[in-house]
Amino acid sequence: MRSKKKSTMRAEPNRIWHERLRYFEAKLPDLVQTTREFVEIESPSDDKLSADRMGTLLAARFQAIGGTARVHRAEVYGDNIQITFPGRDKRKPVLLLGHFDTVYPLGTLAKMPCRVADGRMYGPGVLDMKSGVALMYYAIQAQQAWHGSLPRPVTVFLVSDEEVGSYSSRAITERLARESGAVLVLEPAAGLRGAVKTARKGVGEYTINVKGIAAHAGLDPSKGHSAILELSRQIVTLTKLNDLRRGLSMNPGVIRGGTRTNVIAAEAHADVDVRIKSAKQAAMMDRKFHALKAFDKHCSVSVEGGINRLPMERNAGVVALYKTAQAIAREIDWKLEEAAVGGGSDGNFTAGIGIPTLDGLGGVGEGAHAVHEHIVISELPRRATLLAGMIENA
Ligand SMILES: [Zn+2]
Repeated sequence: MRSKKKSTMRAEPNRIWHERLRYFEAKLPDLVQTTREFVEIESPSDDKLSADRMGTLLAARFQAIGGTARVHRAEVYGDNIQITFPGRDKRKPVLLLGHFDTVYPLGTLAKMPCRVADGRMYGPGVLDMKSGVALMYYAIQAQQAWHGSLPRPVTVFLVSDEEVGSYSSRAITERLARESGAVLVLEPAAGLRGAVKTARKGVGEYTINVKGIAAHAGLDPSKGHSAILELSRQIVTLTKLNDLRRGLSMNPGVIRGGTRTNVIAAEAHADVDVRIKSAKQAAMMDRKFHALKAFDKHCSVSVEGGINRLPMERNAGVVALYKTAQAIAREIDWKLEEAAVGGGSDGNFTAGIGIPTLDGLGGVGEGAHAVHEHIVISELPRRATLLAGMIENA
């Protein structure tokens, strides 16, 4: 398979790739316009009506270029949208994975309108990741224009709840990935040099609940067993597991407990974010959390939660995809870099079940989830060239 892919690439002279780049340079106004259209439909994860409006439009757009849409109904969050395209050869489909939900509440557009300035397009979700969804659309359309039809089957899966943990979409993402030869994730590139993401940390979320024994802090201090004190000891112990050099960290970001200063606290809770670099670390952290025991035997400790996203590890499948991407980029005189990042995406799920995954193929820009979120417009043509090439060669 690998050698066949290589020869396909070699058979196509450098000139063809430059022509493809020029095709997308000519398409740039359309790419920008489509991205703007997507940004101007607000689609916060927690507003089903708005998210569904976006999903319906996307299904129609991809259907208009020959896809068959399937709507996976979801109760709480927006419906998830799957679009399948037939292809000429018998290879497994390539899965183009993305999300259309954003972290911006309804009404953000009024304060943060979609605008172009200094070669950049600003707006809620423009980088993370509505430009990525637009790239999918134009890469598929281009392959059809160049070859009359897609060289291989393509599945597009657009998720409605990625920013809130992908609880409604995860099982579908994993099923579609299992049916696919490779997964290309259109999340933003890493940094302004446009690196693709070949490793992502995994993410865990835990809540530690401590029950103690309340007592009057003045009259009966010896009768109380403080849940707050117990929780503090637990946190200090857990913090010792931090190993930043190995990419392992935990943060007790939220803490609650107690009722008044003169009462020894009967209850305390901490919400903890955990980041891990390998599946092994994930298992180790999960074991440590669920094995927590009270220091004070009059207190009890219970733990909820677990690892939400396993890390996307830079394994052989990931490296092979990166090499293919690099070879395509080289054809248009672009030295494509790779990066390992701390945040998780749905690519963690697909890589976690062993399907070759390359992430960060989407827009290039800065400020994801922030008021200055933007993409660099001039980067779009080569991103589209790369994606179209990956659909064919991944
Ligand atoms: Zn994203």
